[in-house]
Amino acid sequence: MYKIMTAGPTRVRENVRLARSMECTNPDLDLEFYDFYRETCQLFSKAMNTENEAFIMGGEGILGLEAACASLIEPGDRVLVIDNGIFGKGFEGFVNIYGGIPVLFTTDYHRPVNVNDLRTFLEKDSDFKFATVVHCDTPSGVLNDVQEISKILDEYGIMSVVDSVAGMFGEPLDLSDSKIDILCGGSQKALSAPPGLTMVWVSERAFDVMEKRKTPIAGYYTNILVFKDYYKNKWFPYTMPISDINGLRVAIENYLEDKDIFHRHKVIANATRIALTEGGISLYLEEGWSNTVTVFNVPEKVTDKDILDSMCKEHGIMISGCFDVLAGKVLRIGHMGENCTESGVAETLEALGKTLEKLGVAVEKDMKEVFLKNI
Ligand SMILES: *Cc1c(COP(=O)(O)O)cnc(C)c1O
Repeated sequence: MYKIMTAGPTRVRENVRLARSMECTNPDLDLEFYDFYRETCQLFSKAMNTENEAFIMGGEGILGLEAACASLIEPGDRVLVIDNGIFGKGFEGFVNIYGGIPVLFTTDYHRPVNVNDLRTFLEKDSDFKFATVVHCDTPSGVLNDVQEISKILDEYGIMSVVDSVAGMFGEPLDLSDSKIDILCGGSQKALSAPPGLTMVWVSERAFDVMEKRKTPIAGYYTNILVFKDYYKNKWFPYTMPISDINGLRVAIENYLEDKDIFHRHKVIANATRIALTEGGISLYLEEGWSNTVTVFNVPEKVTDKDILDSMCKEHGIMISGCFDVLAGKVLRIGHMGENCTESGVAETLEALGKTLEKLGVAVEKDMKEVFLKNI
């Protein structure tokens, strides 16, 4: 078993694993499960400081992004796709699938969305039903100010769908200080439960739009509206994955009890960036680093595969490569959720230093030492 220091999935704490092994009731028929599910969702609302109702859907994080598009889009609707990363651009595909017309606002992937540029763009064209934007775009590790962006979009009458799968629980997010209509999260990133669940937080405005559609939602599993009255009707659209939800419940409780979590992410991420930079390894981003993941350029004369293989085989540590336009160009250390520990990251940097030296890359400073000095 490798120690996974990847950009998600992350390591899972023992109490979450144990909760997943508990005996199960029938989640369709046992009314107590509806209370348990609702209480768990209320903890998710609390975690995002909102009255908006949260829902847990059975399916990995991508489900939330697709469900938001499926539930809001009617054929011909224009959707603004804020593209400053691979996941950001990825929304274009979902908009197309559901008959929407995606319009891309593409920005430099090396830094966050500049809100003034967004305003300038919207001055010329703001005829959009909603916009999509990513909080932490994990392949580059960029962090966008989604609270501010959603408020600007709202000034132009545009709703917001936000993918914070890899931001939330590692970076603060306050829904009450935003105009986010559908917030999407997943179980396997900073929350540190295994992959398999999606969480969505839905505004009344978003439900209202879904209810007033002229055409039916073109999906069943991706239909958020069917969750709206689950508690009143004591009915779920499909049998809930109860063991996954038992684990998720403990994971959200772990998060809510952890008063130091954002500070810890900040300190560890900052020290990781300093260590790599002083070691002579360049970071992909020029500014706007998310504290959940650090993305660095693959040094010249070596390949990502060489580094990843050696990290796994000789040190038992798995970090992430990348995909799409960043395939082969960058590597990623995930220090979110349960991965966000001083010892875990120190060990990873030590292994990375040894690996690079073995592959003939000159490492200018002992990265583990620099990391620990900056904690
Ligand atoms: C991980 C992640 C998702 C879920 O995608 P998978 O590739 O299936 O893990 C969605 N959005 C972002 C920004 C993510 O980091």
